[in-house]
Amino acid sequence: MKEKDLNSLMKKLQFCEHCGFCRAVCPFLEAANMEESVGPRGRKTLFLSLFEGNVKPSPRLAQKFYMCGVCRACAVKCPQGIDISEVSVQARNAIIKANALNPFMKKVADSLVSGVKSGDIFGAAATKAKWAENINIPNSSDTVFFASCMDTSMAYGELLVDVLEKFGWAENTLMSLSGFAQKLGVIKFFDTFLGGKNDFYRKSLVNTVNLLNKLNVKFSYLGDEEPCCGAALHTYGLLDEFAEHAKKVYKAFKEKGVRRLIVHNPICGGVFKDEYPRYVDGWDIEVKHIVEIIADAIEKNGIRLRLPEHTKVVFHDPCYLARFMNIVEEPRIVLKAIENLELIEPPNNKRETKCCGGGGVELIYRDVSMRAAVNRVSELSIGDPDIISSCCPVCALMIKKGIKNLNLKAKYVDIVDLVANSLSPSS
Ligand code: SF4
Ligand code: SF4
Repeated sequence: MKEKDLNSLMKKLQFCEHCGFCRAVCPFLEAANMEESVGPRGRKTLFLSLFEGNVKPSPRLAQKFYMCGVCRACAVKCPQGIDISEVSVQARNAIIKANALNPFMKKVADSLVSGVKSGDIFGAAATKAKWAENINIPNSSDTVFFASCMDTSMAYGELLVDVLEKFGWAENTLMSLSGFAQKLGVIKFFDTFLGGKNDFYRKSLVNTVNLLNKLNVKFSYLGDEEPCCGAALHTYGLLDEFAEHAKKVYKAFKEKGVRRLIVHNPICGGVFKDEYPRYVDGWDIEVKHIVEIIADAIEKNGIRLRLPEHTKVVFHDPCYLARFMNIVEEPRIVLKAIENLELIEPPNNKRETKCCGGGGVELIYRDVSMRAAVNRVSELSIGDPDIISSCCPVCALMIKKGIKNLNLKAKYVDIVDLVANSLSPSS
């Protein structure tokens, strides 16, 4: 972090009024049984102590900063505009630089760096473009559909979380096995083995492409050459690596003449829109989410959308869509345009949405992350919806886990898939 930025963050923290508004909305403080040191106000105090030299970087201290979903719910509520997610990310960076992570978390860091470099966060770059094999996407536009390795490879993430759940604290073994599998090049075998899990995430990409074609949007897709946005490097606190990666990604985009990105995954969208301009001088690439494009088409042209029967749908605003990309009205424009769809607004919606329990915490502190997911899905189930909808692969994973845990009848359906299911043949 630049000295100037660190000083301004430290200065900002001096204005904390200790009002506790941030505590009231932190999903991980709630999930960690209100232990003050893993809440936003506690993190702020620890951050100041760390940078004033009163506490030393250690694995125990790391736990306090890594039990944060970088969701920015606290920032929306803070009267002083303090964003504790920034505090968490900067503290993580300082702890990494002091070499004070425990061996497992160090392994996660190494794996993220190599995954992102290879073009896929899960190290599955060899299969990342497989979803687009049988669809026709032209490759000659300065507007690029950015498919995101979280969407193309999230089935690996789901498998990882499933295995962790089943076999308890086996992370070290699992990380070693996964690294070994990648080295041996058996990822293609894994991809076939994942079957239905892959289809679940990748079908939203196919539907996005079909919708863009239907709406006459000219776009291309970079396929195997699509880089990873590097969001995980940023949230994990690997800021030097993120800065270097972001510059490389921008250079690659410019060489390919990219002027506009269309994303489905709001995490990539939020990082391109909100973090890249801070790390890449001259960043000038426009970023759009697919819901903005659909909402725009509905308002301008009126598309006929209809579900076959009356369906109650609750929409969960992903943190990155609502608070990083500032998109809250467009999903509602889209859902309200679907005949037979009854939209239910959950508690904590729009900019005040509550994190799904993901944010990277799911791979490190599973129990806390799962409690946060269950808390959020309990809120989403008020009104007894048939469908819980959103548009983020991490929210999808966590909401599905929450639904299973609570034994709900509701299904998780991505908003793009809902639109695709509602299109009449003539529209
Ligand atoms: S960013 Fe989210 S998880 Fe982190 S302290 Fe703020 S409210 Fe809590
Ligand atoms: S909401 Fe802001 S001012 Fe209030 S305790 Fe939290 S960080 Fe401090």
